[in-house]
Amino acid sequence: MHTELSAELAHSSAAQRAKAIIGSCVHCGFCLATCPTYQLLGNELDSPRGRIYLIKQMLQGAPAGKVTVTHLDRCLTCRACETTCPSGVQYGQLLDIGRQMLEVRPIRSPGERLVRRVLGAALSRRAVFAAALRVGQWLRPLLPPAQAARIPARVRAKGMLQPARHARGMVMLQGCVQPALAPNINAAAARVFDRLGVSLITVKEEVCCGALSHHLGGTERALQQARRNVDAWTKFLDDGAEAIVSSASGCGVMVKDYGELLRHEPRYAERAQRVSAATRDLCEVLRVADVAAIAAGQSRDLRSRIAWQSPCTLQHGQKLTARVEPLLEAAGFALTPIRDPHLCCGSAGTYSLLQRELAVRLRSAKLSTLQEGRPQVIATANIGCLQHLAAAADVPVKHWIELIDEAGAP
Ligand code: SF4
Ligand code: SF4
Repeated sequence: MHTELSAELAHSSAAQRAKAIIGSCVHCGFCLATCPTYQLLGNELDSPRGRIYLIKQMLQGAPAGKVTVTHLDRCLTCRACETTCPSGVQYGQLLDIGRQMLEVRPIRSPGERLVRRVLGAALSRRAVFAAALRVGQWLRPLLPPAQAARIPARVRAKGMLQPARHARGMVMLQGCVQPALAPNINAAAARVFDRLGVSLITVKEEVCCGALSHHLGGTERALQQARRNVDAWTKFLDDGAEAIVSSASGCGVMVKDYGELLRHEPRYAERAQRVSAATRDLCEVLRVADVAAIAAGQSRDLRSRIAWQSPCTLQHGQKLTARVEPLLEAAGFALTPIRDPHLCCGSAGTYSLLQRELAVRLRSAKLSTLQEGRPQVIATANIGCLQHLAAAADVPVKHWIELIDEAGAP
């Protein structure tokens, strides 16, 4: 597809990048078959091809209004379309550019802007989110049932985070909402790696990875957060940290993109590239042999049936497929078959808050496929998916590393 950039955008590097991405789309429509919003709504403008067309119009100088905002907002950024596309169209990057262009235009009402700003600020500050969650949990008994159900119950870690005590170490990306919502995930990861002689190190100066702001169109704020993390983690890589590991696939996919996002900044380009290259999801670091060794000797019957939900940020964003399943099997769990594993659960960062109706419909569809095989537990790899699914699932939803940790518990 050819795009004629408007005079205003002709010299913008972001617009030129968007033009190049659009140029690789051959308009074939294969992506429509795997797009969750197109499947639900049946409108071409709620498909990848339709959204590409809307962004193309903006780049050519057509006025963008409510229609463009509505259809770009409905996109989950799940990137299932990228996995399907035979031409390698980098739709995720294009959408981020399109959203950034929309945010600087006076289309949203002041109320909408305020909600997005508050969400971006509150969810990306660990201490602010933890305090707000705690207040909500205290007030929970006083709220009407429908509202109370939307506040996650308090969860405690099953043990303390292991102190760093081994010569081998890796930086552990802590995340913003995860430590307050599910503190056992990082604690379980630290216990598992401690058994393997590797300490997971937390870095005090770490801030939000920037994914929340980035997908809300707040690119400059996201870049500031990326720069701070590059500064914070480089010192640990210099000191011999073997990797930066993430237990939340939504954060991992963002950090793996720092090299690309900061490529034009002389002070950061090289170090950002290094940070991205060192970043791994837990499933890239843990080996089947490690898990087998951890689980060997445990005497309990662990043949629980597990339904594995692969988050979009793991399978489409990081292109990591069939990595967690062998680990769970090595730990002794039995996996149930899942239909349409490529489809999003509807969580998608702030999507489940801003596009509630679509998010709930997608969750119902996902849960019916996950629960078809009558699992005892649903396992996932991202805190957003975990919370969203857990709010309506009939069985517990856990991070897969918690199950590996349980398999190796004395
Ligand atoms: S599958 Fe790829 S090339 Fe075909 S319409 Fe979709 S984005 Fe364009
Ligand atoms: S990212 Fe997901 S929701 Fe958005 S267009 Fe692609 S497949 Fe559809």
